[in-house]
Amino acid sequence: MKFVSFSVDSERIHVGLADPIQGVVHDLSDRLPEGADLLHVIEAWSGLEQIDEDLDSLPTFPLDSVRLCAPIPAPQRNIFCVGKNYREHVVEFGRSGYDSPDRSESLPEAPVVFSKATTSVSGPYDKIESHPNVTNELDYEAELGIIIGRGGRGITREEAFDHVWGYTIIDDFTARDLQRTHKQWLLGKSLDTHCPMGPYAVTKDEVPDPEDLRVQSWINGEARQDAHVRDLIFDIPELVSTISAGITLFPGDIIATGTPVGVGIGFDPPKFLQTGDVVEISITGLGTQRNEVQ
Ligand code: MG
Repeated sequence: MKFVSFSVDSERIHVGLADPIQGVVHDLSDRLPEGADLLHVIEAWSGLEQIDEDLDSLPTFPLDSVRLCAPIPAPQRNIFCVGKNYREHVVEFGRSGYDSPDRSESLPEAPVVFSKATTSVSGPYDKIESHPNVTNELDYEAELGIIIGRGGRGITREEAFDHVWGYTIIDDFTARDLQRTHKQWLLGKSLDTHCPMGPYAVTKDEVPDPEDLRVQSWINGEARQDAHVRDLIFDIPELVSTISAGITLFPGDIIATGTPVGVGIGFDPPKFLQTGDVVEISITGLGTQRNEVQ
């Protein structure tokens, strides 16, 4: 199932099920408690089958008539992110000189984990703020996002997928100058609107093997990134077990798994994003997000 958060003609955010083949979204609002968001659905994991049976009786809108928000528009806490998790990206990042203070092309020996502020989250088709007074070196990072459904601490590799609810697309927008200058990545990763998410939160039953997922990005139609999740240095079970070793994970937590080779700083000279540029990201079965830099 492809869950969405959407608005119709007001600021109120509805939870729905998208059917991109039919081009419609089924509104689940009447089936959920007043004010419930997608987090409620994620926490009530076992109730999904009942929703699926009754789709025809739900209010339905053309998909192109609604505004899609991030599936989880206001996460309960920062998005967990993983840096340097595809081999060739580690090399391009190290060579660029932006990996301050490390500047190494060698592979990390353990996952590099950081976070993005919740206020960076934006919708899958929203405009991205260029923040010209803060950064001159804006870059994109196409990534698979994991959505945790069952919380826990000390989750083992073998148990990891029992805690995964589903998947989404994340663009880990990065202000490279802030990332380099401040040496710790939070500022450079967390500017407002710099975490477009979605369009869908796809339940894991639709993704039999996440290793097969293909992650692709384009800038103004020019192909930039193209890799499979199986190319991750640290795979999904490793990321879940590493993060949860001493931090309790909650339903609705999101882990961005890292970006493949082909980001702007990988080029010589770097290809930073400019106003008017359009970033598109697709992942197999998870849809396509499209964001213009303004
Ligand atoms: Mg990233």
